[in-house]
Amino acid sequence: MERIQAIKGMNDILPSEVHWWQAVETTAREVLESFGYREIRTPIVEKLELFARSIGESTDIVEKEMYSFPDRKGRWLTLRPEATASIVRAYIQHNLQADPLVQKFYCIGPMFRHERPQKGRYRQFHQIDAEVFGIEDPMLDAEVMFMLCRFLERLGVQGVGLHINSLGCRRCRPDFREALTAFLAHRAGELCPDCDRRRHVNPLRVFDCKVERCRDALDGAPELQDYLCPDCRDHFHRVQSYLSDLGTPFELDPRMVRGLDYYMRTTFEVVTDRLGAQNAVGGGGRYDGLMKDLGGPDLPGIGFAIGMERLILLLQQSRSHSGRVPDLFVAVLGDRALREGFRLVQGLRARGIAAEFSYGGGSLKSQMRRADKLGVPHVLILGDEELESGKAPLRNMSSKEQVEISLADAETALMEYLRRCS
Ligand code: ATP
Ligand code: MG
Repeated sequence: MERIQAIKGMNDILPSEVHWWQAVETTAREVLESFGYREIRTPIVEKLELFARSIGESTDIVEKEMYSFPDRKGRWLTLRPEATASIVRAYIQHNLQADPLVQKFYCIGPMFRHERPQKGRYRQFHQIDAEVFGIEDPMLDAEVMFMLCRFLERLGVQGVGLHINSLGCRRCRPDFREALTAFLAHRAGELCPDCDRRRHVNPLRVFDCKVERCRDALDGAPELQDYLCPDCRDHFHRVQSYLSDLGTPFELDPRMVRGLDYYMRTTFEVVTDRLGAQNAVGGGGRYDGLMKDLGGPDLPGIGFAIGMERLILLLQQSRSHSGRVPDLFVAVLGDRALREGFRLVQGLRARGIAAEFSYGGGSLKSQMRRADKLGVPHVLILGDEELESGKAPLRNMSSKEQVEISLADAETALMEYLRRCS
């Protein structure tokens, strides 16, 4: 019979690798919560129009990457390709601006985009997403980027850089758009077919194109920075000086436009040269008009998303981490020892010790082999004879030395011994 496989580009996260995910999630929660963020969990499925309206009809995500389908009543639904739109929707729907305590949100979970699967690019992937509403001050832009860098530092990620840009606002961007359109008209023949279309509908998108010859064609293109209005220029300038105050290094990247239409003013990306073509680990920016566009109050917003798969690929290159090694293995010989060992292991676990055990028993040799494979530092050897005498040997697997453990209160005796060793 043909075996059923997972859907292409959608991965299982197996027990042998899940510790990476858990470590990243734990650190993310710690860092985000220390900066005042609170978790929000929104549905994975939303109405198609939420994403079409927020991300923009002529973006790659909406044009070609969304998983959209009609439900049984013929209403169009979409598996979320990102989290910002859903969080803004929830904020408006639940009138959260009334509660000053919840203006900073985070969300961790799966996203879906129909892309060509390759290393660092999947169809179901995961993001850590952070969003802040109601604060226009450039100090917040700097804080958000500082926090993102702190998080990566805490994890021990190496080989990443922070790139920043300003996309201007609704007042100054039209001027830039006009200049860019004029420039692109001269380069029309050199652009890929997609960009040739983009230059009419959404010229900024051309900067986000991954086709080599489009990059070349953009040589000498006008730069956003030269078109910023005084307010945007001042905002961007202050973001940079606050970042410097916080000791966060950054690079100006005048070509970075990001793949979503709702961004304005500050945008940023964390990039790496260690993941081949998939060079963005995370990115974000300001989206001051989005809340109003989605029918909510006119509140500014800023946020970012980190791709967890790419982050973990990077982490695996930066440091080794093998998950929690058990503290103790209980090897048993004989039926009575099997039952006593079973009880002992559960008791130890209840007291926070990572104890392991071979459920079927088996030969002492095979149990020792298993303990060795797990990398357990200590093995308690429990046989009927030991139960009789009330003492059992505890072997140190690296030095091969043995000590006697009293079985009268074995849990306490083992805990004390392990504490002395650590
Ligand atoms: P890219 O330019 O690589 O397509 P993007 O600009 O589409 O990235 P964003 O929408 O900004 O990405 O999402 C933020 C982060 O989510 C990215 O920096 C990346 O780490 C991750 N990400 C995006 N799409 C995928 C995907 N298909 N598979 C894995 N991770 C992804
Ligand atoms: Mg993309």
